Amino acid sequence: FNDKLEVKRQAKKFIQQKVSDFKAHPIVVEKSTSVYNAIVQLFLEDVGTLYAVDTEGNLAGVISRKDLLRAALGNKNLQELPVSVIMTRMPNIITINSEETLLEAAKKMINFHIDSLPVVKEVDHKNNTYLLLGRITKTTITRAYLEFMEEK
Ligand code: ADP
Repeated sequence: FNDKLEVKRQAKKFIQQKVSDFKAHPIVVEKSTSVYNAIVQLFLEDVGTLYAVDTEGNLAGVISRKDLLRAALGNKNLQELPVSVIMTRMPNIITINSEETLLEAAKKMINFHIDSLPVVKEVDHKNNTYLLLGRITKTTITRAYLEFMEEK
C-alpha cells in the first residue's frame, strides 16, 4: 500500500514538471517555403514535424509527415507548391505555454491525436498571434521520463 502511494507521489512529481524545462528548439520554415524544401528539411533535421512562421516569426502553421506525404501523392509540382497551402493553420493549431505542465502537454497530444505541440507566447489573442518559443513532442516526454528515473 505504501509502495503504491510512493509511486503515485513520484509520478505526480514527474508529470507536474514545467514545459519550459523540457522544450526543444522548434524546427522552422517560412510559410512561403516549397513542400519540396520542407521534405528536405524534415530529413536534414531528423524531425517529424515542422512549424511554419510568417515574416515576423509568428506561428502560422504545422506541417507533419502525413501532410507532406499527402501533398506528394497529389502529383503536383512540389518545388512550386508553398507549405502554406498544405499546413494546418491558425486558429486550428493546438499550442502550449511554457508555464504549463508535462501533464497538460501529454493530455493535449493524446486527446488531439498529434505528435507535437508548439510552445508559444501569446502576442495578440484577438489576431491569433503567437511567438514560437519551442516544441514539445512525445519524444520529449519519454526523454524527460528517462532523466527523471535516472536521477532517482
Ligand atoms: P503525422 O502526420 O506524422 O501522423 P501528427 O499526428 O502530429 O503527425 O499530425 C496529424 C495531423 O495533425 C496533421 O495534419 C498535422 O498538420 C496536424 N497537427 C499536428 N500537430 C498539430 C498541432 N499541434 N495542432 C493542430 N494540428 C496539428
